Amino acid sequence: MQDVLEPILKTDKFSSTELNQLNQQFETTDPGEILSWVYETFGTEMVLGTGFGSSGVFLIHQLQTYGIDIPVFYLDTNLLFDSTYELKDRIEARYNIDITRVTPELSLKKQADRFGDELWKRNPNQCCFYRKVLPLRNYLSDKKAWVTGIRRSQSDTRNQVRIVDWDEENDVIKINPVAHWSGKKIWDEIHRHNLPYNPMHDEGYPSIGCIPCTQPVNASKESDDRNGRWNGTDKTECGIHFPEHYKNGS
Ligand code: SF4
Repeated sequence: MQDVLEPILKTDKFSSTELNQLNQQFETTDPGEILSWVYETFGTEMVLGTGFGSSGVFLIHQLQTYGIDIPVFYLDTNLLFDSTYELKDRIEARYNIDITRVTPELSLKKQADRFGDELWKRNPNQCCFYRKVLPLRNYLSDKKAWVTGIRRSQSDTRNQVRIVDWDEENDVIKINPVAHWSGKKIWDEIHRHNLPYNPMHDEGYPSIGCIPCTQPVNASKESDDRNGRWNGTDKTECGIHFPEHYKNGS
């Protein structure tokens, strides 16, 4: 990868030509090697965000495998399942790491006082804005790159995701090292290395987020798509990956 890396290492910004060149190269590169490149480029100014889905677990394992010591964080909306918190604890114990908890400034009580009870039922975009989008923006404000586990095969919304991109909303480089991988490939790795995962995946929950907005569906865990999130609405994303999906919390 050296011929591509040399000119890019001199700058934090990427031209569209450089981004295109990198994306073309990374289409045939394994996630661990992509993470190594990000680490060489950004060091500890890069962070990995996870919601503890299958891709996130796999990426945390890749960090350990490749000796990449960077902060790992999650957005705690205060509405996550017990099994999600238990999985976090198991991952921390297995890899001897502390995963950073990023929380909203607005407590659930303050949110209810300001907008009424169960905002997620009436205006999930606004709820996601205060509980996910804003906390992420604040957390990334002094970072240079963030790594995510989103994949093209997860949904129609995500099917154009690039491996390296500029995140205008958060003013950072965004790296999606498994964008080009299938759910099956991720699950094969999880089973091969006996990685911890959320047992709800075995109970019909391909995607696990906040309690009020997550439902079981009739799908195998290998599908690992976005089904079961915000059922009964046309919402498919919380907005942290696709800003057009939160509409500024209005
Ligand atoms: S997923 Fe649901 S409960 Fe969680 S922040 Fe978004 S709207 Fe609120």
